[in-house]
Amino acid sequence: MITLLGRAISYLSIVGVISALMALINVVLQFSWFALLIVILTNLMVFLILKQEKQTNKVDIENIENKPAEETDELESKVQERTLELNIALQELEEANKELQEKNTLDELTGLYNRRFYDQKIQAEFRRSRRNLTPLSLVVIDIDHFKKVNDNYGHLAGDECLVTVSACIKRCLRRSADISCRYGGEEFCLILPETDSKGALVFAEELRESIETCQFSYNNIAIKLTISCGISTYLQQKNVKPEHLFAVADQALYKAKANGRNQITQQDFEKFSDH
Ligand code: GH3
Ligand code: MG
Ligand code: MG
Repeated sequence: MITLLGRAISYLSIVGVISALMALINVVLQFSWFALLIVILTNLMVFLILKQEKQTNKVDIENIENKPAEETDELESKVQERTLELNIALQELEEANKELQEKNTLDELTGLYNRRFYDQKIQAEFRRSRRNLTPLSLVVIDIDHFKKVNDNYGHLAGDECLVTVSACIKRCLRRSADISCRYGGEEFCLILPETDSKGALVFAEELRESIETCQFSYNNIAIKLTISCGISTYLQQKNVKPEHLFAVADQALYKAKANGRNQITQQDFEKFSDH
């Protein structure tokens, strides 16, 4: 539209100039006052047209200069808005992912790590122990006569007992590197990195005592709980695999049960037999 207007103005200017020239020739040849008047009027018209054209061009230039700046500002603010929205969405996604990961690794009833987490962690800690030449102990815990608890006080009371034992375990663990898991049912596992057999025994004894002395009651009925523990310690012995740690500790636990429960037994890898 602006270009069309510009062209029309230019065309008119040229017409004006030609008319002026023709009038001038008329004056020169015939010296007519009327022709002179036409010359003056035509020049005036050309002057006005040119002035108008200049004004129009100025407005056009201003429009051209201002428009991109406005558009850029608008675009920039839109980009900022979208970036903010994306950051919020990303943060929400990260939180949901974290929550999902936690749900995936934690036992719902007790809040301890679950079996899946134990399986991954024991492999990782075993490799670390082998690489750094540090001792690694595993404590397998089993609640004594737990079936009787369920039978005598009900399954809900049994569940509460599991929660109480888990709380005792959490309280007793002092080092952030120590990991407590619910292995399954009323069995728990403690992975104790950089802990030798002596350290593991002291810790397990402390835990056993704290559960024995814990005054737990359900619906105002006192329930006595005790645990038995089996311990194995990896000191980079040859031909030992991560799963052997559990098998040896479990065998030690079996002995603790056979010896009367509410006690701790340790076992070496040398004495371990597959059956
Ligand atoms: P022992 O001293 O030889 O370990 O005897 P126990 O009765 O504890 O062992 P047993 O393996 O015979 O029984 C384990 C019981 O644990 C049986 C099962 O009902 C109970 N149990 C396993 N998981 C849960 C649970 O999530 N909640 C409740 N309330 N009980 C459970
Ligand atoms: Mg059991
Ligand atoms: Mg048991």
